[in-house]
Amino acid sequence: MCIFCEIIAGNIPSTKVYEDDMILAFKDINPVAPVHIIVVPKEHIESAADINESNSKYVAHIFEKLPEIAKSQGIESYRIINNCGEDAGQTVKHLHFHLVGGVKMGEKII
Ligand code: 5GP
Ligand code: ZN
Repeated sequence: MCIFCEIIAGNIPSTKVYEDDMILAFKDINPVAPVHIIVVPKEHIESAADINESNSKYVAHIFEKLPEIAKSQGIESYRIINNCGEDAGQTVKHLHFHLVGGVKMGEKII
């Protein structure tokens, strides 16, 4: 099992901030901003390059819930980051979106 599947299964502890039958959101262990939440589908999808007709519902659901998750953390403006593949810096091979905020980030993407 990958590390995020272990977190979903409850085998590795995490600070959960939102959960339903399709997705889980928890605090990043190494936050880069005052708010840094990881949002994952409960189905193991390796990366954004593996989204297809049968699993895209998870991505849609994540984006439907992101504003509510952000609000629960006290922010309404945030950056959503997905690292897809090696060169982009994806270290955990389970599709996830970083919800980052609580700080003025400026206009540069990287
Ligand atoms: P990536 O670099 O793959 O886009 O992001 C992986 C993220 O997962 C990193 O920001 C890292 O800090 C976080 N992370 C890795 N392992 C764990 C863990 O065991 N628990 C939590 N809460 N976050 C983790
Ligand atoms: Zn997984």
